[in-house]
Amino acid sequence: MSESPLTSASQKALTQEITKRRSFAIISHPDAGKTTLTERILRAGGAIQMAGNVRAKGERRRTRSDWMGIERDRGISVVTSVMTFEYGGCIFNLLDTPGHEDFSEDTYRTLTAVDCAVMVIDAAKGIEARTRKLFEICRLRDIPIVTFINKMDREAQDCFGLLDEISAALALDTAPATWPIGRAAQFVGTYDLRTRATHFIAAPLPDDDPRMVQLAEELELVEGALPPFDRDGFNAGHLTPVFFGSAMKEIGVTDLLDALVAYGPAPRAQPAETRDVKGDEPGVTALVFKIQANMDPNHRDRIAFARVCSGRLHRGMRLKHVRTGKQFALHTPQFFFARERQLAEEAFAGDVVGIPNHGTLRIGDTLTEGEDLRFTGVPYFAPEILRRVRLDDAMKAKKLRQALVELAEEGVVQLFRPQDGLAPIVGVVGVLQLDVLQSRLKAEYGVAIGFESTPFTMARWITGQDKVIEAFSQAQRSAMADDIDGDPVFLASSAFMLRRTIEMTPDLTFHDIKQIG
Ligand code: GDP
Repeated sequence: MSESPLTSASQKALTQEITKRRSFAIISHPDAGKTTLTERILRAGGAIQMAGNVRAKGERRRTRSDWMGIERDRGISVVTSVMTFEYGGCIFNLLDTPGHEDFSEDTYRTLTAVDCAVMVIDAAKGIEARTRKLFEICRLRDIPIVTFINKMDREAQDCFGLLDEISAALALDTAPATWPIGRAAQFVGTYDLRTRATHFIAAPLPDDDPRMVQLAEELELVEGALPPFDRDGFNAGHLTPVFFGSAMKEIGVTDLLDALVAYGPAPRAQPAETRDVKGDEPGVTALVFKIQANMDPNHRDRIAFARVCSGRLHRGMRLKHVRTGKQFALHTPQFFFARERQLAEEAFAGDVVGIPNHGTLRIGDTLTEGEDLRFTGVPYFAPEILRRVRLDDAMKAKKLRQALVELAEEGVVQLFRPQDGLAPIVGVVGVLQLDVLQSRLKAEYGVAIGFESTPFTMARWITGQDKVIEAFSQAQRSAMADDIDGDPVFLASSAFMLRRTIEMTPDLTFHDIKQIG
């Protein structure tokens, strides 16, 4: 490693900075209140000032990401962005994930860059389908989960019942961290089980108020029957502290933030091929988990979002871009706030910085101070929707090729170039990705395309000896393609076909996930 060992004083300062970092994402089923909670959190963190109540979804989303027409038209959040703010002496990075399941690949990649997830549950509906899916992704990575039971200001399920449901549905221990005071329209505050403090939105209630009497009765049950918070269990992802609140009425939001300050996990070690990289190691390492192009009409650029995984990154430093072996100068790393961005003079493990570049950086790339290290865990999933791109204006073939590569590098779709020379095939996990591709090709590149069906429903990366791959490719020419890295991919028309091909080709391995890096 190029870095000389730090003196113990500077190591201490580094560790202190890193211990202050909190990077998290909010996961939820659509409509549970993720957007509202995000806004309240940012407001509590002073990141945005907004008068009055939450604005209509359409209007608010327009202001946030006007650059993407499709998002506006459909009223869904397609983009993963990051927002940095300070609260309680900690630096928070809140990574936004797309709500729609068609963009789950993007969500998956974002979750590689967080240390913790806040799971928002609608108090009337309990665990819903998408909550469960997102939770499972977190579990695969042992990401600690904080639960926020939202909409307590409305008719809700019984609190004990909700806790049981979370435990049973997700096989996850629950430890209530707060308890609601009053229910539905009478919901006015929370009781903090850790500090024993009460928080009211208006004047405190007297002890003989029926809501306080109910609280006292329930607390006996809670404290007698439910497990206390256990930090190790939380850090390992086995136990979730549960908060009750109303994002809309701003009840319970600071309970949640205070808890993230008190015991939210600081940056976790990030797994790499050869070893795990700890946050407080002196050498800088960073992992690119997201690329966004043309984010802002005023800055037509391409931003790579990188999580700093260790050390202190500073503006102007040169890092090694491990995939190409070349040097990469960090001229203008940026932090993103709710509505603006700023040059990042320095950033520490746990922070997410945006790095403008012209296509050098790709999803899954590692930057280091010289070490040949590759972070793992940023995957491509084998798509099950495969469409051939139909170009309306043949004069634009070259432009289309370039645009498809750029958008594939961003992770909008996967690109497969058929070895038989026919038109490119794009692969997606969810059909909305195709709409995004189509509208962005038109808006940003001026290329109109359509899609045609293909005989294929499955794609598998193949590995094995070169000469075996070559022979297989010759024999299967019309079903072979190269992905964006030039890696060979076999396209199958059905599960049956795929099974048969695998059986008949014992010398090759077929993969449904490709690790990038
Ligand atoms: P998302 O789809 O998860 O981002 O959910 P939103 O934040 O957009 O909220 C969905 C709907 O629930 C909106 O109409 C919100 O105003 C409403 N909502 C969000 N939080 C609360 C809450 O705490 N109480 C009530 N009553 N409604 C809420």
